Amino acid sequence: MFTINENYLKLQSSYLFVEIAKRVKEYQTANPEKKIVRLGIGDVTKPLTSEVIKALHQSVDEMSQAETFKGYGPEIGYEFLQTAILENDYKKRGINLELDEIFISDGAKSDLGNISDILGQANRVAVTDPVYPAYVDVNVMGGRAGIYHDELQKNPQKGWSNIVYLPCVAENDFVPDLPKEKVQLIYLCYPNNPTGTVLTKTQLKVWVDYAIKNQALILFDSAYEAFITDKQIPHSIYEIEGAKEVAIEFRSFSKTAGFTGVRCGYTIVPKALLGYLSNGEKVILNKLWNRRQTTKFNGVAYIIQRAAEACYSELGQREIRANIEAYLNHAKIIREGLQGIGLTTYGGVNAPYVWVKTPQGISSWQFFDILLNNIQVVGTPGSGFGPSGEGYFRLTAFGSLENTKEAVARLKDLR
Ligand code: PLP
Repeated sequence: MFTINENYLKLQSSYLFVEIAKRVKEYQTANPEKKIVRLGIGDVTKPLTSEVIKALHQSVDEMSQAETFKGYGPEIGYEFLQTAILENDYKKRGINLELDEIFISDGAKSDLGNISDILGQANRVAVTDPVYPAYVDVNVMGGRAGIYHDELQKNPQKGWSNIVYLPCVAENDFVPDLPKEKVQLIYLCYPNNPTGTVLTKTQLKVWVDYAIKNQALILFDSAYEAFITDKQIPHSIYEIEGAKEVAIEFRSFSKTAGFTGVRCGYTIVPKALLGYLSNGEKVILNKLWNRRQTTKFNGVAYIIQRAAEACYSELGQREIRANIEAYLNHAKIIREGLQGIGLTTYGGVNAPYVWVKTPQGISSWQFFDILLNNIQVVGTPGSGFGPSGEGYFRLTAFGSLENTKEAVARLKDLR
């Protein structure tokens, strides 16, 4: 008899997007003539830029000739892409890295999940709340989450017993407080999904200092770094002194360059970052991750890495910036439109998400139903991202300009 990883049975069904899809479908079936505007799911809508497409075509042609054909590439990525990342995303911000500290992958989600392989099961995990759900589920699979308490069990504590939730709400300006109990793994995502808020260097330094003092590891997800407009906001955690000793950084071309369907990202594991054996002995985490990747992963397709490289040419950068500016303009339209009808919004300045306080204390799901039934606009109920998301609602700036304007016009009718 073989046995399974029973942690998988503990996973809660991904209720959020399933429930949204169900309610939208029921509404559309009952009201086929109504046009629904969707600002719910965080996927891009703009096509790949011309520089990226050009690089894809060229590299596909290379694959057709014996002299330029590429088979297996280096598991951790081609040097041409590692170099482009280093020069553009790090050196320009005063951060130096070695090329073998940059691991190319098929996206941030994979790495955020796979990193669990090299981390011990006994670590106590902290997540900001609300949170990108994958961080929690990965730790459920890895046996670190404990028991799930839900409201039905009438337990005063919601969520997982071994996960420390760090509330990020209007009352604390969406800045998480340090945990009261000791934690070893800390997931931070800035600019944040779902709240669209950011941390200043001083606020981020508090976490780096905590990690240094407590021998903890920060898993820093900066998938939305390209949306930062405020010059004071750090793009990389390595802008903070000491961070190379305590943080892994995850990045993605998904939202930066429209690669959600193309798949490319990268993870920085500095050699200065040490992990601990249970007897306190130290190991270099970079070596462990390298071993994990070279054993379980055979690299990202050559043509995709060429496409990612094209994002860094002068024209490539201009094209990508234009798309990001357009999405940020959608966020502004949403923000200003909602504020104009008296709603309170957060985020949406350095991020493609606008986090809305639901009016008159109504719940996230009640607000969802009101928008769907009265004006046919779909967003995401904040409570789906964690207990502290209750009373909030997420709208994304990744729709088309037309849909964004339409949604805001309809919201004005709601008044
Ligand atoms: N991290 C955050 C916070 C995200 O919101 C997303 C996607 O929505 C990802 C990671 C996944 O990125 P990728 O497409 O590179 O896997």
